[in-house]
Amino acid sequence: MSPVGIGQKISWRVATVIDVVPETQRTRTLVLDVPDWPGHSAGQHVDVRLTSEDGYQAERSYSIASPPEDARLSLTVEQLKDGEVSPYLSEELRAGDTIELRGPIGGYFVWDIPVGGPLFLVAGGSGIVPLMAMLRHRNAALAKSGDARHMIPARLLYSSRRWDEVIYRDELARLAASDPTLEVVHTLTRDRPEGWTGFTRRIDREMLEEVAWPPSEQPRVFVCGPTPLVESAANALVEIGHQPALVKTERFGPTGGSV
Ligand SMILES: Cc1cc2nc3c(=O)[nH]c(=O)nc-3n(C[C@H](O)[C@H](O)[C@H](O)COP(=O)(O)OP(=O)(O)OC[C@H]3O[C@@H](n4cnc5c(N)ncnc54)[C@H](O)[C@@H]3O)c2cc1C
Repeated sequence: MSPVGIGQKISWRVATVIDVVPETQRTRTLVLDVPDWPGHSAGQHVDVRLTSEDGYQAERSYSIASPPEDARLSLTVEQLKDGEVSPYLSEELRAGDTIELRGPIGGYFVWDIPVGGPLFLVAGGSGIVPLMAMLRHRNAALAKSGDARHMIPARLLYSSRRWDEVIYRDELARLAASDPTLEVVHTLTRDRPEGWTGFTRRIDREMLEEVAWPPSEQPRVFVCGPTPLVESAANALVEIGHQPALVKTERFGPTGGSV
């Protein structure tokens, strides 16, 4: 399928919630049935529109968490305190409810197998969502070929505040354990479980130099999360020598605390 650009007109669809899966205390995945979904690429997002009884409407963007191979669309929403839309999506919605969405949107922050690698992913908080679609897509290709030697090597550097705030924690561990060509590296910025030996600070230049492939390997880099994390990581990667054209970014919000 060809990705839909932001300028193109795409119609609103009614999606039905099939399941609501708790991921962390503040994060839920909505599994949706979207009739006539045209398909998407890993990394794309949708716009969600809510309409209140008096006609007031609010729209927000949410990345697609499910890979193109899945028949159902998944969105993972982190509840922001005092937020207008995210508390409703993550707390109120139940199986059988409907929401309006349009998409898929975005042709820049996407990764398909032919784009190649190595694939270096950098996430902060809910910024993991589109990167998870990429890892799930990559894993679906592995399942199809059955041979990890042909896999595009991938590394994920994922910043969270606490271990129990790591979204998709168990799935990431399972994927890494079953695939020698995937490495998952966590940094926990606020609080660590006892005996933690991993990184304990925000993502910085030194960490990126340690975890990323060197620029000479020309990794395809995708950085997603709160705006300050995305900007500082992308700047550091370019300073290290990665080609700006190979460093793609998606900013989720204006602030974002300390991930
Ligand atoms: C392309 C794209 C994809 C996105 N994908 C996802 C996703 O997969 N999952 C997800 O949970 N969110 C995602 N977001 C963020 C989402 O669109 C909303 O911004 C977020 O859910 C907050 O909406 P709200 O109505 O609850 O908060 P608002 O009422 O809009 O804002 C409440 C307060 O939170 C601040 N704020 C707004 N957004 C953020 C943010 N992202 N981080 C920190 N503070 C913020 C505001 O400045 C304000 O102070 C994405 C954003 C973009 C642009």
